[in-house]
Amino acid sequence: MDFYLGIDFGTSGARAVVIDESAHIQVQVRYPWLEVDSLVSSWQKALLTLLGQIPEQLRREIRAIAINGTSSTVLLCDVNGNPVDTPLLYNDGRGSLVLEELRDIAPANHTVLSATSSLAKLRWMMQLPSFGEARYFLHQADWLGFLLHGQLGISDYHNALKLGYDVEKLKYPEWLESLQTPIQLPKVLPPGTPIGEVRPEISQQFLFPDDCVVCAGTTDSIAAFLASGAKSPGEAVTSLGSTLVLKLLSHTRVEDARYGIYSHRLGDLWLTGGASNTGGAVLREFFTDAELENLSREINATKASQLDYYPLLKVGERFPINDSNLPPRLTPRPDNPAEFLHGLLESIARIEAQGYELLQKLGADSLNQVYTAGGGAKNPTWAAIRQRNLKVPVISSLNTEAAYGTALLAMQRIRE
Ligand code: ADP
Repeated sequence: MDFYLGIDFGTSGARAVVIDESAHIQVQVRYPWLEVDSLVSSWQKALLTLLGQIPEQLRREIRAIAINGTSSTVLLCDVNGNPVDTPLLYNDGRGSLVLEELRDIAPANHTVLSATSSLAKLRWMMQLPSFGEARYFLHQADWLGFLLHGQLGISDYHNALKLGYDVEKLKYPEWLESLQTPIQLPKVLPPGTPIGEVRPEISQQFLFPDDCVVCAGTTDSIAAFLASGAKSPGEAVTSLGSTLVLKLLSHTRVEDARYGIYSHRLGDLWLTGGASNTGGAVLREFFTDAELENLSREINATKASQLDYYPLLKVGERFPINDSNLPPRLTPRPDNPAEFLHGLLESIARIEAQGYELLQKLGADSLNQVYTAGGGAKNPTWAAIRQRNLKVPVISSLNTEAAYGTALLAMQRIRE
């Protein structure tokens, strides 16, 4: 039997999933983030602990491994791959200090023009005393992959998008090349491309086959999309977590910086999407998860609520309405809590439908099916309300674990 291993380094912990040739899960293991003094040593420990937790009989037949990391979590390494400073995490905003300078360099509205982009982080890191020792700039997934295959300076085009890599032409753009950054930017491969065999020390320690390969990785949110089962143009995944995130698979690339819309490349297709500030965090302001479940059962999902809210925690929205002054709209509030919840769920569903309409108006393929992930996915009443608003089938994701999506990525490229 051949097995495939996907490893997810997400925001709340690290997980690993082993699948067989039929994409069935053989084992899942996890490693929660603990209080640690060094980020890189905790990543390394998490990786090795996860590998050790996989039963030996599976490890002996793993053909390929891929890793996903959080997007724009980056670090500088020396010639031997040792980090020269603390990594900057995905949400680290210190890049805001170089945004002005970046605006003079990058094309208007480019994805790199954000305080948390990989390129903003790299430009910020250039003033660190440790920068002199650095030879390579890597993303979290690149460095973790290096620990397994031993090759430095390799990334994938999902992680490299926010570094400014041109995912359409598959090269670094001229404006980026002309900066002559005094450090090696990663060589960028399609996600899932086999990079090399597992280092001998690793295969001896964990009893992987000698020809087990490590593949180029991806980011955690794309891995979660891959896990859903969506694969044809027109299929989408809505994530109903603290915020509302839409992703729609399309033949065309859609970008609009005003709404924070951009597209990742997915083979010959594009994964386009946007993120709204509405979502489950607003529901949590008013209801516990148990109340959400119980009150939802009292709602007649076939009937549209006439309450027209714009549920936000604070002023400001980007997608599908670009208005930094948009106020939360949560009135009138009926006395009956189920009626109030109905209004909230209906209003978020309308915003979701408006989001997909905007993506289609900007050129994305017609929506034909929506998978659902996140904490709100388990609410059947909401699914029915959404289906009525979206006018396409709303179905559960096959799986919502990024580690599972990454295992699929490892398998697909090997078996092509
Ligand atoms: P995060 O984006 O923080 O990872 P999760 O995917 O874990 O979020 O989802 C958490 C959200 O799910 C919470 O904000 C909560 O309001 C929402 N939620 C939990 N249970 C339900 C439910 N039964 N119906 C609707 N929403 C729910």
